[in-house]
Amino acid sequence: MDHSKLTKQILTAMFVGILLGAGVHSLSLAEDNFILVYLIDGLFDLGGDIFVKSLKLLVVPIVFVSLVCGASNLGDNASMGRIGLKTIGLYLMTTAIAITLAITAAVIIQPGVGINLSTDLEFVAKESPPFKEVLLNIFPSNPIAAMAEGKMLQIIVFAILVGIAISKSGEAGQRIRQHLDDWNDVIMNIVMMLMKVAPIGVFCLLVTLFAQMGFSAIQELIVYFMTVLMVLVLHFVLTYGGMIRVLANLSPVKFFRHMAPVLAYGFSTSSSNATLPMTLETVEHKIGVKNEIASFTVPLGATINMDGTAIMQGVATVFIAQAFNQDLSLADYITVILTATMASIGTAGVPGVGLIMLALVLQQVGLPVEGIALIIGVDRLLDMTRTAVNVTGDAAVSAIVAKSEGKFSNDVFEGRAASDTYSI
Ligand code: ASP
Repeated sequence: MDHSKLTKQILTAMFVGILLGAGVHSLSLAEDNFILVYLIDGLFDLGGDIFVKSLKLLVVPIVFVSLVCGASNLGDNASMGRIGLKTIGLYLMTTAIAITLAITAAVIIQPGVGINLSTDLEFVAKESPPFKEVLLNIFPSNPIAAMAEGKMLQIIVFAILVGIAISKSGEAGQRIRQHLDDWNDVIMNIVMMLMKVAPIGVFCLLVTLFAQMGFSAIQELIVYFMTVLMVLVLHFVLTYGGMIRVLANLSPVKFFRHMAPVLAYGFSTSSSNATLPMTLETVEHKIGVKNEIASFTVPLGATINMDGTAIMQGVATVFIAQAFNQDLSLADYITVILTATMASIGTAGVPGVGLIMLALVLQQVGLPVEGIALIIGVDRLLDMTRTAVNVTGDAAVSAIVAKSEGKFSNDVFEGRAASDTYSI
């Protein structure tokens, strides 16, 4: 199946799913209504869950195998270190830009001014881990446990170690690399199979979600909601579009077109992690980033790079400060930028985690954590949208790093070269 046909199918499925779900929600059906029991909470919920489970199923094998292959192909430690620094530097930079944009917009628009606070707000913030623990958590003591628990940074560290060791192991290393390359092809073909059913999966996820929540929650928080949305779009178009144009010298329109299905996966799953297999496939085989770069930058990005989340946190912090009539100083804003940027490193790419980390940011500047209760109602929809931005950021940085390292295929990007052995 050609890529643009699949993109159209996924986007149509998304659109129909949202419309149908919101339509069902607006009917306010009784809990035991046939449509709710058998279709929404039955068939569609099941279909959506199976789709997300199948995506998650691939995350650990794909990250490990792909990254071992990538790291072993890069060979020397020096280029590994250089690429690592470049990637992390770009991730931190885009996140800092994102949150600065968010704070600026929120200060200008003032979404929280005049909010009628209810006095009985209740929100129990989950404890966020101390920074030392976050750092310590990067290093695995047991690779199998890391894989079983899906600890992405630990898997990345272990895979890089194995990859480097393979490149130092002469013929034995060659044999293993050959073997893992074959595994990589096999796993990518599973991704392809999943892509074929993605329109159904996306439809099931969205119809269920919108039937449950509709759009009603947005009305009360429309200014906050629109501010976050606007900054997400701005960051997407200006920061990513600009970087792709200026730093990678590529057409942003083509880049976004290649990314369209990945955005749909991010939006419907609300999880950078669950989207990872699709992001990786697209970055390598549609955008043209060579495996040795993509296999490192994309999983790392799905784990540590969350620009969309940082945007929500920036707007939310200013919103909560305004709603509670508390002034933030310039030093506070700088603290917000630094904390949110750092917090995104220790945050996993799963649904709703951005709100937990928001508690950390609020605490740093002495704002009431209960303020989170104000925005929780619209967070699901924003979570979906910001996840789509998060995954685009990973792909953009990956393309820029690959270009700068000469590990990029313009032919694949322009659609002139077949993308290896995989076909959809
Ligand atoms: N759901 C987001 C992601 O996976 C994280 C968040 O903002 O909650 O990228």
